[in-house]
Amino acid sequence: MSNPLTIAKFGGTSVANYAAMQNCARIVAGNPGTRIVVVSAAAGITNHLVDLAHKAMTQDQISEVCQAITDIEYRILNELKDKDSVESKLNDLLDEVKKLAFHEEILHRNDLKDNLLSMGERMSSLMFSAVLAEQNVTTMNFDVRKVLRTDSEFGCAAPQLEAIRENAQALLKPEIDNAIVVTQGFVGADDEGRTTTLGRGGSDFTAALLAEAIDADVCEIWTDVTGVYTTDPRITAAAHPLPELSFEEAAEMATFGAKVLHPATMEPAVRKDIKVFVGSSKEPEKGGTWIVKDCENEPPFRALTRRKEQVMVTVKTPKMMYAQGFLQQVFGIIAKHKLSVDLVTTSEISVSFTLDNPANSVAQRLNRETIADLETICDVKVEHGFDLVTVVGNHMQTSKGVSSRIFAAVSDFNLRMICFGANPHNISFLVNESDSTEIVTILHKELFE
Ligand code: ASP
Ligand code: MG
Repeated sequence: MSNPLTIAKFGGTSVANYAAMQNCARIVAGNPGTRIVVVSAAAGITNHLVDLAHKAMTQDQISEVCQAITDIEYRILNELKDKDSVESKLNDLLDEVKKLAFHEEILHRNDLKDNLLSMGERMSSLMFSAVLAEQNVTTMNFDVRKVLRTDSEFGCAAPQLEAIRENAQALLKPEIDNAIVVTQGFVGADDEGRTTTLGRGGSDFTAALLAEAIDADVCEIWTDVTGVYTTDPRITAAAHPLPELSFEEAAEMATFGAKVLHPATMEPAVRKDIKVFVGSSKEPEKGGTWIVKDCENEPPFRALTRRKEQVMVTVKTPKMMYAQGFLQQVFGIIAKHKLSVDLVTTSEISVSFTLDNPANSVAQRLNRETIADLETICDVKVEHGFDLVTVVGNHMQTSKGVSSRIFAAVSDFNLRMICFGANPHNISFLVNESDSTEIVTILHKELFE
């Protein structure tokens, strides 16, 4: 296989400005196997759009935010060699941003919100196609909504895999023979053609879904770090990049808080055995992390992750003592409110659990209604201020000495909940948020230095 079919995804910082986009364009032009490019919105844009979609603001404030968006895009536009052919298209998109931002119902209609949120990717794909064309390659800007079918759960839409595959084979695949296709991450459309979004950070997921749908060999995730690190380098400077990771390890890391990859990214890769590469678009020569099905080695300890802002809920009822079905009732209520349970511990009359917290939305969703519902069957205590620390590795349940090494290292700290994963790849514990940086630093030293 001379040129493995590759999809390259560039994150927000990689397409933040013209110079950053040029780095990306060189990466694409330098690999003849790369036929599809997925871009995020330029850094900062989606945050502005989220403000417009969710915050009540005065007309002046709305104008200010729209201006900030215009400024970011115009700084890129002004450096384009062929600015004239792009300007009117960009202006159309900026007009759409304004129209939606000032729409009377923007704060109340989720379909309008998603339309607004999608604008960042729609603008950056337009700009990036122009920058890529400067590298003397044929490019086309492709509207991902033609292929990326989702349900209608605005804000966190779920992909419909069969439709995506069918559409991609019919509409996207034929294009890649003639041009390098540039398209939008994060964005989809439902059956009725309404614009949807996949949740914050969803562009990685888009890239993996498209890779699956067109049978690509490689999915590259270009970001601002030289790969996946042993832990977040902002926690400890001793963190170092990992040359290789298995699908399982990467999926655990993403799920348990490693920010480099959207948690769902590995699913399509696993289904179709697509190699995933993570590297820095600024320093591609430094290499990065290859995430593959089978690694050369399977060390017991591979990485450490931290997930912040965890909420612990304890439900208690004397009736639980001999009762059957109490857990089912509790989890039924949690499911009804679209929360998902993460760690669980039980005692005779009480159950404690933490809630999975994608994009830190639990605080929003764990609202009075959920608690009131739970209170119809039990006493409820909600505690905040926890972080979840996870050790990711291999054969953790069957190797001797794994847990003693971990727990000896953190014996000075109060661990609130300990959980061996239901697979052999993780051990997690809930700690006070004020301790988590120290705990990760100490464990990193013990396990990786
Ligand atoms: N632009 C979106 C976000 O900021 C999606 C992404 O960048 O992956 O969340
Ligand atoms: Mg991202």
